[in-house]
Amino acid sequence: MEPKPSRQEALRYIRAKVDELLGVIGTLPLRPEELDDQRLITLDPIGIVADSFRLLNSHLNTTIEQLKIAQNEIRSIFDTVGAAIVVLDLHDRIEDCNRRACEWLFNDLPRTAVIGKMAQELCPCAEALHEIRSRADGVPHSTTMEGRDVSVIATRILDDAGQAARTVMLFSDITEQKRTERDLRLYAEVFGQIADGILITDADNRIIEINDAVTRITGYAREELIGRNPGMLGSGLHEAPFYKGLWHSVEQHGYWQGEISDRRKDGQVIPLLQSISAAHDPAGRLTHHIAVMTDISSIKEAQTRLDFLAHHDLLTELPNRLLFNDRLCHAIERTARERNQLALLFIDLDRFKNVNDSLGHHIGDLLLVEAAQRLRQLVRRADTVSRLGGDEFVVLMETSATHLAAVRLAEKIVAAFQQPFQIGDLELHIGCSIGITLFPDDGEDATTLMKNADVAMYRAKEAGRAGYVRYSQEHSAAMRLKLELDNALRTAVGKQSFELHFQPIIDMGKRRVAACEALIRWPTGPAQARSPDLFIPAAEETRLILPLGRWIIGEALRHQRRWRDQGLPLDYVSVNISMVQITQPDFAEQIIALLAETGTAGPELQIELTENVLMADTEHCARILSRLREHGIRVAIDDFGTGYSSLSYLKQLPIDNLKIDRSFVRDIPGDQNDCAIAAAVIGLARTLGLEAIAEGIETVEQQDYLVSIGCDKMQGYLHAHPMPAPEFESFVIRYTQSHGHL
Ligand code: C2E
Ligand code: MG
Ligand code: MG
Repeated sequence: MEPKPSRQEALRYIRAKVDELLGVIGTLPLRPEELDDQRLITLDPIGIVADSFRLLNSHLNTTIEQLKIAQNEIRSIFDTVGAAIVVLDLHDRIEDCNRRACEWLFNDLPRTAVIGKMAQELCPCAEALHEIRSRADGVPHSTTMEGRDVSVIATRILDDAGQAARTVMLFSDITEQKRTERDLRLYAEVFGQIADGILITDADNRIIEINDAVTRITGYAREELIGRNPGMLGSGLHEAPFYKGLWHSVEQHGYWQGEISDRRKDGQVIPLLQSISAAHDPAGRLTHHIAVMTDISSIKEAQTRLDFLAHHDLLTELPNRLLFNDRLCHAIERTARERNQLALLFIDLDRFKNVNDSLGHHIGDLLLVEAAQRLRQLVRRADTVSRLGGDEFVVLMETSATHLAAVRLAEKIVAAFQQPFQIGDLELHIGCSIGITLFPDDGEDATTLMKNADVAMYRAKEAGRAGYVRYSQEHSAAMRLKLELDNALRTAVGKQSFELHFQPIIDMGKRRVAACEALIRWPTGPAQARSPDLFIPAAEETRLILPLGRWIIGEALRHQRRWRDQGLPLDYVSVNISMVQITQPDFAEQIIALLAETGTAGPELQIELTENVLMADTEHCARILSRLREHGIRVAIDDFGTGYSSLSYLKQLPIDNLKIDRSFVRDIPGDQNDCAIAAAVIGLARTLGLEAIAEGIETVEQQDYLVSIGCDKMQGYLHAHPMPAPEFESFVIRYTQSHGHL
């Protein structure tokens, strides 16, 4: 029997046990509450260790279970993410991948067939993979794989020793995202660049976005508009119902389009073509209004300009024929209703053609502008002044248009036009003739009124210009006469019922008949138009002057040839040429052909041109004249001093003779002015090495004076009237004999 331990031994034993127990417990992965109390009471460390391992085991089992669950969860997450995930080792061997990676990168192979393989065996894009893996910087890289935009992030995973062991690569297909980005960038670009203004408001109609064009169109900066109501752009030109209609349409149809006038920041009104659409969210609530505005001011301007152009004369900016006719027709209707009268004043400038021909169209245009200005100042605001074309104007009097009122206005206009026009440093005397008609007395419709006013105007011209004539029935008869004249001329040209008369040109120095001027005569012509001054213009107007002119030159040359054959010592025959003739491109060639035909030489012919003809197209004339000069044909300026010429042409053109107009000769030697002019012309001729011929010599005094200032050549009734050829021949013989030459 064992001796019973002493109390002290027992305590020592227990203490040792407790220490051992505590040591065991301290090393166990157990929490104190999990210890079996019995074991503690019995101080059984072995039992505790055994228990503890048992416990531990069961813990481990649960943890493994949980780990398995967790692993599955992770795997399924891994498989459900949209990105492809691949884990590669350092040699590009695939350690793991998710489902998306199998589908996308590895040709749909199952994972089991993929794991452990080299990436390049399976993946068409292994190269890109390899490259990104070797970079493995954990930063997204954009690349393209098989036409898709891909973002790849490669992250290195280190082992316990801190060495790179594997790489996790995450591939995301960002094609859609890229496309959206591109689209957004494009939309932003369009929004910014578009010439149309786009203004977006929120549901409360506060501006939330604008593009640059809005700033350009309205002049307001972005920050001045954002948050404000678009009403701030209103011009105040539209009435409330306009806006009401606009918003009604937006509400009802979600859309409005139309023209609207807004006001710029600088106060200017801008016409806009605007569309406003309402935008809604999927639930149908209004979210925005989108306004697109196109600045149509340039279109509007063009429209206004076109409208103006179509209805106005560009030069004078007066209403043109179109607008005038329109106003006249309306005025006639109204006047007829009111049983009232209206008056038309048809105005034609006198001798405007001279100005145009001799000073050029530019001066002519300036004169027309001035004339328009004068007319505008003379008429009342309610009256219309219009330019019908050329130098024709017409005034429509609508208020208190009595005969007397029309006549008073005509008198005022005639007086105003008698004042010279100052064009630059030119002072032009022009004058005008006016024909007057009254509705309803002188015509009941626009056409008749206009036609009769025109007829009356012609009458005023015939009556000596610078005056007015009220239309009367007889005037139409005058117009008929004009038509008859044209017809008679046509027949006469066909029948060659003209004659040439010849007027001698005397050389006072040598006392001989130096030459003659051929002057046309129409013995069978209508009594009131027998003078060439009257029928030549009609022949020019109808262009009958072309065949007639050719006949005249031929006829003159035939006579010249005969006189030469007869031994009459004439230097040349001088023939008048009209503007219409010389503007013919083949004029020179025609003359050269006629010389050949008649067997005459160039120097036996002189052509007479007026300054106006030369000034009309100096360049063309220069060409023609130098061609004529090649053949020795002479050129004279007829009626010298009456045109508005610049005289510089005298130096540019091959000219032989200046014919001093008989209007300057008439009052010589009594009129100092005319004497001075004649002296100046003769002086000029001498300076330029030209001859001067004095026309219209009727008195010995005229002749003596002109001879005294150095002019030798004389033409006029003092010596002889123009005569038929036989008489002229006798005159030459007589004159030559009496002066001892023959
Ligand atoms: P012009 O070429 O200046 O011709 C001179 C005109 O003065 C002629 O009138 C002539 O008869 C006239 N005359 C001559 N001496 C005197 C005189 O001492 N006193 C007055 N008072 N007059 C005199 P005519 O024959 O009646 O011709 C008038 C105009 O008609 C011509 O002016 C010319 O411009 C044009 N003309 C005449 N014949 C022709 C022609 O064959 N062809 C063309 N194109 N025009 C012609
Ligand atoms: Mg002449
Ligand atoms: Mg003359």
